[in-house]
Amino acid sequence: MLSLVAAVLARFLKNDEKKLPQVLEKILEKTGIKLFQTQIDILLFLYHSSNKFKAVEAPTGTGKTITYIIYSLSKEHNFDHVIFSTFTKNLQQQIYTEFHKFSLDIEPLVIFGKSSYICLDKLSLLPEKEQEIITRLKPGELLKKTAVTSYYCSQEYRKLCPHRENCEYVQILSQIKNSKFLIVNHFLLPHILRRLDDRRILLVIDECHQLLSRRVIHIEKEDLSEPEKPSPENFGTIQEFNLTYEKYMIQLQKYRLAKKYNIQSPGRYEIPANFDFSSAKEVIFFSATMPETLPENCDLLQIEDRTDWSNVKIIIKDTNYRKKDYLNTLRQTIKKATGKYSRVIVLATSHQQLRKIREMFPDAATTLDEKPFTLIEKLKSGQINLVAGTDVFWTGIDVPGRKCIIMTKLPFPSPENSDEEISFVTGMQIMLKKFKQGMGRMLRSSRCCGEIFILDNRIQKFPEVIDYLQSLSKKGATVIFENKRKENTQNLRLRVVK
Ligand code: SF4
Repeated sequence: MLSLVAAVLARFLKNDEKKLPQVLEKILEKTGIKLFQTQIDILLFLYHSSNKFKAVEAPTGTGKTITYIIYSLSKEHNFDHVIFSTFTKNLQQQIYTEFHKFSLDIEPLVIFGKSSYICLDKLSLLPEKEQEIITRLKPGELLKKTAVTSYYCSQEYRKLCPHRENCEYVQILSQIKNSKFLIVNHFLLPHILRRLDDRRILLVIDECHQLLSRRVIHIEKEDLSEPEKPSPENFGTIQEFNLTYEKYMIQLQKYRLAKKYNIQSPGRYEIPANFDFSSAKEVIFFSATMPETLPENCDLLQIEDRTDWSNVKIIIKDTNYRKKDYLNTLRQTIKKATGKYSRVIVLATSHQQLRKIREMFPDAATTLDEKPFTLIEKLKSGQINLVAGTDVFWTGIDVPGRKCIIMTKLPFPSPENSDEEISFVTGMQIMLKKFKQGMGRMLRSSRCCGEIFILDNRIQKFPEVIDYLQSLSKKGATVIFENKRKENTQNLRLRVVK
């Protein structure tokens, strides 16, 4: 099947591209895959662009995964490796499933983040009872103390490790060079590219805003001073040394970042993204909200958002975090939402807010205690019905179906938490993008519906936000601005304040 797709596409591309839709349809018939016009538009763009860098901004639900799989299958003979990189484990699994729809006799290598693999050597250092518990946990729940890290498992130690033969992580690493198709995540991508140095690589970066946007780091008090390097002679065993060295390296990395960005006090800081694409022969970026930080000379295709918002109600509460009634409104909104929905997601903007929510709702699961994606899995499986988180909750979670989303405030970057002065215009751009990404958490599939509460009446002051909400209203969303001065809450036409 792979060769059929490749051969037919290659031949037809040389001859008559106008027939692309029909040809593709015929090829895909056997796989049960049907293409929409938007997907064909994306494919034509990718084939036409001869630029190393190509970018496609397409709304969620466009079916972009299928398009980049088709493109890479038809071009695979030009490359030694095709790497699909995305942001979460779930999305990696989705790519894998889509890939298999092509009934290919080819198995892409899926590599999850290191924390998904258990380090048998670390595990062997724990008491037997603890070992037993840990081996029963699901990968996402692995405790940090048994997860693989490159600081513990250095290249040198890997050769000596007594558990090497049975180590899943090492087995996966050994397959990288011989795998044509790899499905990885953004955190691992630099490591994978280093391993494939000097090879011809087609790199497809899904959810590219996660890789190219500024990232948040948490600096603790101890990260501000240089940690002392451990010396092997002070340790009884090499494993003991490895464990201490691992802690040292994590702290050293943070210390170096703090120094590089001149961070003087503990807190959360945004730092610029910095990624080197030089080793790839061709790079394709995909996102629903394209960041401004695309490489220069990148060909860009923007697909109009035709999503249907008619099953979504957006309610802007008449309060904001500076108002006296704010916490009470937040409490009431969450309470009502949990009474009505089995899936409630709170998008917060600070740890302080998360602590408040935990205080008000002791059953709330927050990113203060657990990893975002573990929380989302629990929410989807029905184990919990209320989750709250910052950062990645706005940009990278995927909960299909009926749900309620509560935004605690407009997500402006906090000036005191930034490494550089943020002008009003830049702050506005960052906020708007994050706000749209937060709104984008609602429509993850055609079955999605529900309510979005925004606890920030300052929205009226920002024409860009109003314009965006009006565009959603044109796509069917009901937008309600609650106005306390009126006796009854009314559907108000949002007015652009100049
Ligand atoms: S090879 Fe590395 S990751 Fe695997 S068990 Fe040994 S130390 Fe851990």
